[in-house]
Amino acid sequence: MRSPVSELVVHDDAVRANTAFFARRTGGRLMAVLKADGFGHGALARSVVEAGARSVGVTSIAEALAVRGEDVDVPVLSWLNPVDADFGAAVLADVDLAVPSSAVLSAVARAARAVGRRARVHLHVDVGMARDGCPSTDWPTLCALAREFEGAGDVRVVGVMGHLSCADRPDDPQNVRERLVFDAALRTARRRVLTPAVAHLAATAATLTGAGAGAGAGAGAGAVAGAGYVHRIGAGLFGIDPSGTTDVLRPALTLRTRVVSTRTVRAGTGVGYGHDFTATHDTTLALLPLGYGDGLLRAAAGRAEVLLDGRRRPIVGRFSMDMLVVDTGGDEVRPGTVATLFGPGRHGEPTVADWARWASTIPHEIVTHIGSRVARVHRTTVVGTDTGGTA
Ligand SMILES: *Cc1c(COP(=O)(O)O)cnc(C)c1O
Repeated sequence: MRSPVSELVVHDDAVRANTAFFARRTGGRLMAVLKADGFGHGALARSVVEAGARSVGVTSIAEALAVRGEDVDVPVLSWLNPVDADFGAAVLADVDLAVPSSAVLSAVARAARAVGRRARVHLHVDVGMARDGCPSTDWPTLCALAREFEGAGDVRVVGVMGHLSCADRPDDPQNVRERLVFDAALRTARRRVLTPAVAHLAATAATLTGAGAGAGAGAGAGAVAGAGYVHRIGAGLFGIDPSGTTDVLRPALTLRTRVVSTRTVRAGTGVGYGHDFTATHDTTLALLPLGYGDGLLRAAAGRAEVLLDGRRRPIVGRFSMDMLVVDTGGDEVRPGTVATLFGPGRHGEPTVADWARWASTIPHEIVTHIGSRVARVHRTTVVGTDTGGTA
């Protein structure tokens, strides 16, 4: 079969290497966060578990069931569900559930009783983000209710979780405040006779910098309640360091396509919608079959480049839904030539970090946006990112 015109190559070996790095860094206490289809990288639960992750975290129950479908034999946590979610299906599939309120806890307990199983829950405290999690003021009530449901045999509190708001700024005093809130929440849980086996607060940034949670030392907040301290790592597994403090992580995606056609134009020719770009000299334009419909952010227009035929060349004009136009200068580029939009950066191609800068956003948004029209190709060895030839 002819290979797809556009492909998103997922470098599984890079994800494994990053996972192994965090497994070492956390003394093995690693929960791999694979939400949003593994940050756009596809199904990777088996890879990260083989590389050292001891559990997997996702948002919805549907995502958790998909991870279970990969047949991994580790705890899988789902932390974001409406009160009427199908908790029974989660419990039957052995999915741990994070619980931010008495209402959700009651619904989980009811569902567990209905299916004749005990639900494994992680109580989620809001340490200072005002987003998800139980407000500290309601926390003692939530703990007391959890204890009641434990007594009735409906739930077992296996974890306590929180999430830091400012961990990408390690010196922000908010990190210290939020850690203190988390410590206090763990002590409260203890006083309500709950015995969570794990406590988790730090994600990638806090784990790399130590912000807030004493990352990596094992003497973090978990020690307060005698719980094992676990790190929930998402971005880092995919080579993204939100704290910008390390260069040991390996990017795990290469996005490439092939030139559909070329044309020569005279100086003064307007290109694309609205003629946002006008050729200042006679030049050659190459057409690429990728656009914002494939997740390439329009905000990057006017700055973005591709690696094409051995050189970085500018994307010119407005991004279309399905097409981009590249100015190749005077160079003749044959149709079929591979163009690399981004990759690990070792062959001169732009990186996800470059795209994030061009689009004034964060790398997370770049990697989670690549659409389903682009074929995902999992590779275990890093391939050259620009053959410079016709594929
Ligand atoms: C996404 C997410 C994580 C992972 O954060 P990273 O910075 O990607 O490591 C951890 N916990 C929660 C609650 C999340 O939503």
